[in-house]
Amino acid sequence: MDYSRREMLRRMGIGSAAGLGLWATGGRADTTDGDPEYAGFAKNLFKVAPSMSDVPSAAIVDGKVIQPAREIPVFHEADVVVVGGGAAGFAAAVAAARTGAKTALVERYGSLGGLFTNGMVLVIIGTGVKEDGKFRLVTRGICEEFMLRLEQMGPQAITPHPGTDKVWQPTADAEASKVLMDTMIQEAKVDLFFHAWGVDVIQAGNAVKGIVFESKQGRQAILAKQVVDATGDGDVYFQAGENYQQISHAMGFVFRVGNADRIDRQKLPKETKAPYLGNHEPIPGALWKNNLGPRGNGLDIRELTRFEMMHRKSAWEYVQRSRKTPGHENIFLMNTCSQIGVRATRLLDGVASIDKKEALLGRKREDAVAVSGHDGLRHPEFAIPYGALLPKRVDNVLAAGRCISCAPDLIDRVRLIPVCFVTGQAAGVAAALAAQKNCTPRQLDVQEIRRVLREQKAYL
Ligand SMILES: Cc1cc2nc3c(=O)[nH]c(=O)nc-3n(C[C@H](O)[C@H](O)[C@H](O)COP(=O)(O)OP(=O)(O)OC[C@H]3O[C@@H](n4cnc5c(N)ncnc54)[C@H](O)[C@@H]3O)c2cc1C
Repeated sequence: MDYSRREMLRRMGIGSAAGLGLWATGGRADTTDGDPEYAGFAKNLFKVAPSMSDVPSAAIVDGKVIQPAREIPVFHEADVVVVGGGAAGFAAAVAAARTGAKTALVERYGSLGGLFTNGMVLVIIGTGVKEDGKFRLVTRGICEEFMLRLEQMGPQAITPHPGTDKVWQPTADAEASKVLMDTMIQEAKVDLFFHAWGVDVIQAGNAVKGIVFESKQGRQAILAKQVVDATGDGDVYFQAGENYQQISHAMGFVFRVGNADRIDRQKLPKETKAPYLGNHEPIPGALWKNNLGPRGNGLDIRELTRFEMMHRKSAWEYVQRSRKTPGHENIFLMNTCSQIGVRATRLLDGVASIDKKEALLGRKREDAVAVSGHDGLRHPEFAIPYGALLPKRVDNVLAAGRCISCAPDLIDRVRLIPVCFVTGQAAGVAAALAAQKNCTPRQLDVQEIRRVLREQKAYL
């Protein structure tokens, strides 16, 4: 059936982003068909919310910048809101939704995976242990499902570590991983909001009741019974006033080199050493290089800016220098990570904490909600207690991923990608159960969390 442009727009709902998109792809977008109401793109097709345009601005009062009190529009309501869509936040959102909670996920960038995908870290280290010469996967549940489903996407989506089991320290492709994360989030019916930066919590005493986020449309609120802090930096528990310690760590930068398959080693003179260009990854002809980088404060935007520019320049110059090596003329800097490699910042002051000594004992714990493998082959698995996700004072918040409670000497194990997946899954299940029971996460029976995690194929 043919519609007039006016009728078409009416049916699509004038002002909807979808409507504008369809109109724009119609090929005649800059014509008006004689309709003065829609004279090209200069016209405002979107309804402007009065609460957005009329909010009082900040003012200088007695030499101080003061933000006047104002109403914040409620954008969404959920049982569980997860802030941060890295490995931990992705797993938390999927797990909460699969446990039956109405779940929202808020991410400041436009794709999921955090350091894993946008930071181009890619090598999934710490998935298991080696016993009697055999590999045993311990980061199961959503982490295992994710790796197996990547495998089904084809050889360019994931490659195993040479000479090992398929899910032992594989290297994943960032783009395949982002697409799979989108898919699994959609399958779980999670309400995902990209381009939304969590900036505050809604609080009544110690109890958190939701979050405030900032976007192109200003500040809006999401009301929720439970909040999972998967920001990597503990932004939510920081905003809620929970205690934490902040550590500094090397801030790295990953880049990829293209045309590695066109390097002509025959041309390399005997006495000349070939430049180190990184490891092979699933994309043919691409090499992956991880720069360790100097220590810094990953919460300080001046420092982050300085590091970004320094790393980018150094990656460019390194590849240009390498191109001068005989046989390497065709290589080029393919891309650099879009998220700088902040390894660790805030660590929660949690109800429980684990350190390296405890981890090396490898003992089973009745309060474990996640288990980590090791990045070397010599160590046993170690258990992460529920208390490591639980703030000491603030209620209705659970931490997941690299900002949970642990001693600084164990952060290099806890922050690994598969460990973030499993702590994320645990936080998601606990948040959903607390929402269902209308209780705080600290009131939950940890054995019930473990039962649901096992139903979701987690290994404990
Ligand atoms: C250079 C480098 C190399 C590494 N190498 C390896 C390796 O080889 N193998 C390995 O297993 N691990 C490695 N790691 C560690 C691992 O990549 C990360 O620790 C892990 O991916 C962290 O996951 P996460 O979900 O906890 O946090 P992140 O990946 O940091 O995810 C946090 C997410 O939250 C979003 N976010 C943050 N704040 C807000 C906010 N206020 N509002 C909304 N969204 C927000 C971010 O955009 C991001 O998507 C490396 C890390 C670095 C930096």
